[in-house]
Amino acid sequence: MHEAYVLPGPLALSRSTVDRAADRRADAAWLDALWADGATRVLLVGDGTVAADGDALRFVAPSDAPDGERFLLGLDDGVAYVAVHVGEKPAGGATLREVGAALDDRDAGLAVHAIALANWHATHRFCPRCGARTRPEQGGHVRVCEAEGSQHFPRTDPAVIVLVVDERDRCLLGRSAAWPGNRFSTLAGFVEPGETPEHAVVRELYEEVRVRVTSCRYAGAQPWPFPSSLMLGYYATADGEDPTPDREEIAEARWFSRDELTAAMAAGDVLPPSGISIARKLVEGWYGRPLPVDVSWR
Ligand SMILES: [Zn+2]
Repeated sequence: MHEAYVLPGPLALSRSTVDRAADRRADAAWLDALWADGATRVLLVGDGTVAADGDALRFVAPSDAPDGERFLLGLDDGVAYVAVHVGEKPAGGATLREVGAALDDRDAGLAVHAIALANWHATHRFCPRCGARTRPEQGGHVRVCEAEGSQHFPRTDPAVIVLVVDERDRCLLGRSAAWPGNRFSTLAGFVEPGETPEHAVVRELYEEVRVRVTSCRYAGAQPWPFPSSLMLGYYATADGEDPTPDREEIAEARWFSRDELTAAMAAGDVLPPSGISIARKLVEGWYGRPLPVDVSWR
């Protein structure tokens, strides 16, 4: 039954217009020239935030940039975009939950790239092989061990996030034990080592609510740098057996028809997933129209 559903776009954090210029990151002279060019635009990033003014990023000239790790974000319309990791929240710092939906496509892509890179650098200062210090190279897209030269690349952790429907076209939503109030969402979990995303869909649904998925289909993905996830969205089918929450990760899980979900949201018994999440888009793809706007949860 899930074949009917399409993830409605756009996903706020999946937008990008910038050429990452990955083929030129190793050219140190070229990077130095970018930093010496007054037309280059520098974004300050730190503590999960980027410098922003309202609905646009705030850039400074290289001559006004503070010290810090330097990242190459890419090229757009002949202009180079770089970032400085200042290690703390910069002036005007805003999180992706605060500005992710408001930014235009170019700025959204730059912000997600910069924050994801900064999150990785902040926790990989030492070599996982020998414990020595590492230093960034190639525009911040690798760290190199200062003792033995081993290279370490930015990590992204894949996770699956799943909207399950049953034979009566109801959808399965769960309430996490860690969330406040009546927040219900799609179920999700990290892909484990040696596992495909599809295996993770089946395993997570059984582990969290004892529901057996019979088929699933990839719907779309969104980077989720809180701090380092890539959310792989799926629509799946299961028999409409009663879910049994594990009570550790999931406190409550229920099947909803569209009418039941509409009534539950109107009564305040169910708060839908937040604005920039792929969970919200997965639910809307099944629901058939946008969910009510709720600004109480970001
Ligand atoms: Zn090492």
